[in-house]
Amino acid sequence: MINIQYARANDVTDAVRQIAADPAAKFIAGGTNLVDLMKEDVERPSRLIDISRLPLKTVEETKDGGVRIGALVPNSDLAWHPLIEQRYPLLSSAILAGASAQLRNMASTGGNLLQRTRCYYFYDTATPCNKREPGSGCSAIKGVNRMHAILGTSETCIATHPSDMCVALAAIDAKVHVTGPPGERTIAFADFHRVPGNTPEIDSNLHPNEIITAIELPPRGFAANYSYLKIRDRLSYAFALVSVAAALELEGDRIKDARLALGGVAHKPWRDPAAEAAQRGQIANQATFMRAADFLLRDAKGFEHNSFKIDLARRAIVRALTQAANGTPQSQSNKKIR
Ligand SMILES: Cc1cc2nc3c(=O)[nH]c(=O)nc-3n(C[C@H](O)[C@H](O)[C@H](O)COP(=O)(O)OP(=O)(O)OC[C@H]3O[C@@H](n4cnc5c(N)ncnc54)[C@H](O)[C@@H]3O)c2cc1C
Ligand code: SF4
Repeated sequence: MINIQYARANDVTDAVRQIAADPAAKFIAGGTNLVDLMKEDVERPSRLIDISRLPLKTVEETKDGGVRIGALVPNSDLAWHPLIEQRYPLLSSAILAGASAQLRNMASTGGNLLQRTRCYYFYDTATPCNKREPGSGCSAIKGVNRMHAILGTSETCIATHPSDMCVALAAIDAKVHVTGPPGERTIAFADFHRVPGNTPEIDSNLHPNEIITAIELPPRGFAANYSYLKIRDRLSYAFALVSVAAALELEGDRIKDARLALGGVAHKPWRDPAAEAAQRGQIANQATFMRAADFLLRDAKGFEHNSFKIDLARRAIVRALTQAANGTPQSQSNKKIR
């Protein structure tokens, strides 16, 4: 029996005060990831600070024409919110491609960013894993690594970030608002998650005593030409082998601006501004999209069981960009399940 204290935070200041006072404490929001990790003995918090009742559940327009999403907005509410459906359908599609309706009802926006990898060895406490136990080794590099990363890997960890929502947020160029003991700060989405390097136990650049309060979307949502394409082993309730968030702004048949982010291939949603810049001014056709795919994947490296992901990603990028250009986004089969 492991004793765990439970406390409810009254407001954001109280939440920060409580987490700063106990480095072994954890916030709990929807609990869909944290409780699983506790059951598997991967996470062992001394104290759960329940933030689920904090007033961070609104989706509002900002003065500059963007949208601010409270960190506790459930994934379902966000996907079906009229502002998101109409102006940021890429984000809506990505959320609906994830998990199940029941899980999306519980899962929070902030929790989705901080969900941990689905590497099997990370969950299996009988095996070495640098992310779970720094310095113990990586069982995946020479083990079963079919779902693992092909970009941004290190000698210590080849895990992927499992979120769908985050891939769309990376493409849209969102910002993350956080509050810690010194006050508030904003982190560009591209800088929020990190590559493993020598410290794979650290998933993000959020400090341990900070809370995510909101995600901010810029005014431009690429609502006319976008696609979120998720390739997975089953059509629902499965994490991405490869996913692509593609968004284009077109002028006639030429690309004025392009956004491209990949999921399921790295320790963070993978985006390369140079691969996007190379598309600007080009004709929106298969040749351009193939060049973009080759460029984005130029440093991809496979392991024993996941080399197939390189070609899969290349084809998925071309398909998603073609769908975006044609204004025929990948339809989500679960789009009607609320
Ligand atoms: C069976 C299954 C299938 C799934 N499939 C998918 C999928 O296909 N695609 C996908 O994207 N996701 C999938 N998920 C993951 C799911 O989306 C996440 O578990 C969920 O988004 C986490 O949100 P939560 O509110 O439940 O987080 P919690 O479990 O409450 O917390 C997760 C982590 O975030 C921290 N945290 C939470 N909120 C904050 C905050 N505001 N500030 C600071 N720290 C915070 C917690 O301390 C904890 O460390 C799946 C989950 C399950 C169980
Ligand atoms: S890939 Fe990362 S999470 Fe998986 S076993 Fe290796 S160190 Fe652990």
